[in-house]
Formats: sequence, C-alpha cells, structure tokens
Amino acid sequence: MDHIEDTLQRLREAFNAGRTRPATFRAAQLRALGRFLQDNKQLLQDTLAQDLHKSAFESDISELILCKNEVDLALRNLQAWMQDKPAATNVLTKLDSAFIRKEPFGLVLIIAPWNYPLNLTLVPLVGALAAGNCVVLKPSEISKATEKVLAEVLPQYLDQSGFAVLLGGPQETEQLLEHKFDYILFTGSPRVGRIVMTAAAKHLTPVTLELGGKNPCYVDDNCDPQTVANRVAWFRYFNAGQTCVAPDYILCSPETQERLLPALQTAITRFYGNDPQSSPDLGRIINQKQFQRLRALLGCGRVAIGGQSDESQRYIAPTVLVDVQETEPVMQEEIFGPILPIVSVRSLDEAIDFINRREKPLALYAFSNSSQVVNQMLDRTSSGNFGGNEGFIYMTLTSLPLGGVGNSGMGRYHGKFSFDTFSHHRACLLSHAGLEKLKEIRYPPYTAWTQQMISWALASQSCTLL
Ligand code: NAD
Repeated sequence: MDHIEDTLQRLREAFNAGRTRPATFRAAQLRALGRFLQDNKQLLQDTLAQDLHKSAFESDISELILCKNEVDLALRNLQAWMQDKPAATNVLTKLDSAFIRKEPFGLVLIIAPWNYPLNLTLVPLVGALAAGNCVVLKPSEISKATEKVLAEVLPQYLDQSGFAVLLGGPQETEQLLEHKFDYILFTGSPRVGRIVMTAAAKHLTPVTLELGGKNPCYVDDNCDPQTVANRVAWFRYFNAGQTCVAPDYILCSPETQERLLPALQTAITRFYGNDPQSSPDLGRIINQKQFQRLRALLGCGRVAIGGQSDESQRYIAPTVLVDVQETEPVMQEEIFGPILPIVSVRSLDEAIDFINRREKPLALYAFSNSSQVVNQMLDRTSSGNFGGNEGFIYMTLTSLPLGGVGNSGMGRYHGKFSFDTFSHHRACLLSHAGLEKLKEIRYPPYTAWTQQMISWALASQSCTLL
C-alpha cells in the first residue's frame, strides 16, 4: 500500500470534478463490470477452484451469476433509482417542491473476506458504482488467486479515475483505515468489524458492517427427516461450510436427532459419494490456520458422521457431532467449516429461549411441517435473515436485503438496497423566490391568530407535488 495517499487523492479529485456522477458514466462502469465477468468466466472459475476447490457449479450459482444479476438489475433500473423521489408537503409548503435526492457519498471503501471472494467484492461494488461513488476495493489477502485477478484484471475494465484496488492484510488495512472515507462497507468477522467501526468513528464515517456468528437451525419433531437432511446438508457443506449464512448448528429433540442422523448420512453419501475426499463437488479449507482451527473442533462432543481430515489437502469430511456441550468451543465460536453439531432441546419454547439467550444471528432457520411452528420461530426471535423450510437460497434474490442485526452487523445491501446504502438521501425543498406575502404569516410579532393558523398548516400533511 505504498501509494495510498496518491490513490486516494486521485479518486477524490475525480469525484470533486463530478466525473462519476453522470448516469452515462455509471452505466458505462456497470457494463464494463459485466464484460469483466463475461470475458473472464473461465479464469474466475479457475481462481475460485484454486482458492477454495470450488466446483464450477458452486462458483456459478454463488458468485458469478449473482454478480451478473446485480449488474443487470442496476443497469435496468439505474435511471429510476437515480430519480428524485417526490415527498408530501403540508399547507405551509404547498406551493413548494419537496423531494429526496439520492446523491453519492464520495469516496467509498469496500473491504471483503475470502469465503466468497468475488461475490463479496463485486456485489457491493455494483451498488457503489451505480450510486455514483469513487471506490477503493480491498479484497482479502487470504484468497490469493482471486485477489490477484481483482488487482490485475478488473482495473483493465474500469475507469481508473474513479476506481482502485488496494492490497494488504490486517496491518495494511489498518493503515488504510486511518484515512478519511465517506462510506465504508466491511464484510468479515465481528472482531475486525469492531476495528473498522472504531477507525471509521474517528472521521464520523458511516459504515455498513456485514458480519458473522452462529446461525441456529431448528428442526421440529413434525418433519420429514430426509427432506430436512437434504436441505440442511447441502447448505452446511456448500463451499465446505465456509458460508456466513450457513446453518451453524441444529437444535432438535433427542428423538428427532435419532431420525435425522441416518438421513444426514444418506444425504452426504448421495451428494459426495462413499469417499467425500474424492468428490469434485466438495470444497477445501482456505488455509492451514483455518484447517487447524477446524480440526481442533472435531474433538468436541462425539463424532456421529465423518470426522476424517487430511492436512495435506486441507480436507475435512462432512461431519456431524452429537452430545455437544454448550461450553465447548464448537458451540462458542462460529464454525465456518463442514462441521454440524446437534444440540438437544425438549421443545420449541426451549429452542427459542436458547436462541434468544445468544447474540442475534445473521441467519436463522426453522424446519417443520407445521407453518405455525415456523411462524412462531419467526415471530419470537430476531436475525438478519430467516429461512423457513429452506436454507440460504434467499441470497439469490436481489429483491431481499442482506444484512445482520446486533452482533451480526448493521446496514444492508443487494439490489436496490445497495444503491440506497451507497447514496446519501438528501432532503430537498425548492421554493419560490417570490410570493413573500403568503409566507409573512410565520414571522414575528406572533399573535394568537397566526399561531393557530400555523399550527393548522403544519398539521396538514397534504399533497405530493409531482
Ligand atoms: P476477517 O474479519 O478476518 O477479514 C475480513 C477483511 O478484513 C479482510 O479483507 C482482511 O484483510 C481485513 N482485516 C483482517 N484483520 C484486520 C484488521 N486487524 N484490521 C483491518 N482489517 C483487517 O474475516 P474473514 O476471515 O476474511 O471472513 C470470515 C468472517 O466473515 C466470518 O465471521 C463470516 O461470518 C464473515 N462473513 C460475513 C458475511 C456477511 O455477508 N455478513 C459474508 C462472508 C463472511
């Protein structure tokens, strides 16, 4: 990060000159981003395979297609999103025009993690560019192959006056955060989220924090175990479990656990074969540090399924743990790997109590044949996202926001939510230069009559001037 100062100054000058504001410029950047994805599809699949042993299928549905959908949606709606939004007036301002203007913040910093290294850099980037900002992208230093492509290939597509990629790990990122940005979107752990927010506070820079945590998955006695097992296993072992919204642990009764275990074994064998290590569809752990951390978690509770590991390949088998104590590390930290503990609860009420005693999760799942049970879980808990009888397929919808609550983050993005996140909503009122006689009623000396008239005028939120 030798050239931080120069880079930031270049971007600020471009922003102050108004370069990134016109709709034509924004659309050109979005189209260029679309071309980057199209031209480099194979390269990107290869880099994701190199970083995480991601299959082309998983790369497509969780990274490339989602990025492309965001680009297409932003291009289709850019004009409408940029339009001033008329606001209602009262009698006092009846002849004026009130509206909300979405204006770019200025210089935006996007910091990304390694687990979906393309999606979590480019999807926020779409929103920041569409909103007319200059952007500094800081990819994760851990997903090295993707970092290289983002640093070397992506800038060939985007206008350099309004965009830069800066590289580095914790130390360099902390240096970067000493500088003033106008908005920061950070995706990563709650621990680093605190560091980012503390640094941002020094400049009063607003932040969106997309964090992680432990996502509960409640399975009701009234369910079809094989259907639940298929869905939970796919979402737990997708990307080798390195997904912020993956079900982190199951809560169910001991009886349901007995029915789920053979069903989970069937699902795992069906998905990854008798020897999951040789399956082309199962990812690998990103690095040795994460591998060692996860291998240590295999010692918690009792292994009911899987449990094998191979350090040379950073392979951890799809695993289910039972007899797990709440105090064990696997129930104390976000797992972020292909390990699924089952915790026994006696009832829905106990499950809800268990969830509500902990930090608010990023995602919460409930599986039941009874919609009442699913709705109770929805009504009596809080989480960033919620899946009833389904995993994180909601991530494919640009119509739903992604964002945590409490310890799992603040703010939201995806689709139009991204555009709104990266736009300052400026409250505007345009009045007439003349018509002063009509306005004189509000000036001193005040009388009981003018007070009464103004009170009435203020109380009447009447019309929207289009
Ligand atoms: P991380 O917090 O370690 O790193 C994220 C980013 O912060 C990286 O770019 C890294 O270089 C930078 N960073 C690391 N240490 C820093 C420091 N001391 N100061 C400044 N910057 C620093 O997270 P990770 O290991 O890359 O990703 C895993 C975490 O991200 C999990 O907790 C997961 O749940 C979360 N996550 C959340 C979402 C979401 O959408 N909410 C998505 C993916 C991952």
